[in-house]
Amino acid sequence: MNRNIESYPRIVIKIGSALLVNQDTGLRRKWLQSLVEDIAAIKQGGQEVLIVSSGAIALGRRELNVTGTHGTLKLEESQAAAAVGQISLSRAYAETLGQLGMIAGQILLTLGDTETRRRYLNARATINALLQWGAVPIINENDSVATSEIRYGDNDRLAARVASMVGADLLLLLSDVDGLYTSAPETNVTAEFIPEVESITREIEAMAGEATTLFSRGGMKTKIEAAKIATAAGSTMVIGSGITDHPLTAIANGARSTWFAPSANPINERKKWIAGGLDVSGSVQIDGGAMMALESGKSLLPAGVTEVIGDFSRGDTVDILGPSGHKIGRGLIEYDSTDAGKIAGLKSSQIEKLIGPSIRSAMIHRDDMVLHV
Ligand code: GLU
Repeated sequence: MNRNIESYPRIVIKIGSALLVNQDTGLRRKWLQSLVEDIAAIKQGGQEVLIVSSGAIALGRRELNVTGTHGTLKLEESQAAAAVGQISLSRAYAETLGQLGMIAGQILLTLGDTETRRRYLNARATINALLQWGAVPIINENDSVATSEIRYGDNDRLAARVASMVGADLLLLLSDVDGLYTSAPETNVTAEFIPEVESITREIEAMAGEATTLFSRGGMKTKIEAAKIATAAGSTMVIGSGITDHPLTAIANGARSTWFAPSANPINERKKWIAGGLDVSGSVQIDGGAMMALESGKSLLPAGVTEVIGDFSRGDTVDILGPSGHKIGRGLIEYDSTDAGKIAGLKSSQIEKLIGPSIRSAMIHRDDMVLHV
């Protein structure tokens, strides 16, 4: 695998809260400076850099003197803390980048900005304009207005969504863990480090526990989910430790990190968007015959659907489950959940009798479907 950071033209770097904010002493300014020096070197070589940074809630809590762990805060309290901390976060980046002659541009995204196609295209155009002007986009979730149902919740998946949106070649997830292990290394002495992942199998997924640190929301699980989104979109992804000063130089010089290979057949733009969708409203289970049809590139017909799960509208993203209930893909569904439930298992002639002549031929059209995600 190509581990040479310098050879990737467009890089998204995700910074975890634990790196940027020390519980006792606040913002780790010296560290941030060293990160920004690394970024300056990368940009001087002609590469483009985007930052997805956590830390708003952690910084805000310190400023407001609110103690305790993430879980002990009510949603509106975390949101209020983010409202305060996001100002400090952006200022810290703008000042530090500015000292080395770089310009920061703040982008705060809500889930709808990536899950609604039109808004997705708008956000992408704005970010591309920033990059064209040589600025460094500093991206975070718009925590203060996100609601519990409509939020990314963790910046690992947000960063992957951004990487896929801007067609990044490399996504670096920097946090306080240095990579993927066969099991949690803190509690298991036999845990083995995995330096490279060619494809994200169920075995790899099973290695991810739920561990989180005090401030960060994402654990290994969200990092593996991020890897699925990013690699399917054609990006290489790295999980590495950012604890030391000059974290990018350290990884470039061979510090321990896990590298995920990009998919050999990256999917097209529209399918990329479907595959990376975070707002999945339900699922349809299909029979063996339909599964074979899908594998050979066909659309999903109502006749092959055995069960409809969840409450969704026409056009929503749903997971496609194989006969044994495991996920085999996802797509945009042509029917709402009520009609889908009515017509599951039926042939088109029977469907026409049931819901009239305005039927659509497929439950999920092949152009709106992505398998193996
Ligand atoms: N958006 C949150 C923040 O800035 C962090 C989410 C995460 O930890 O992944 O505080």
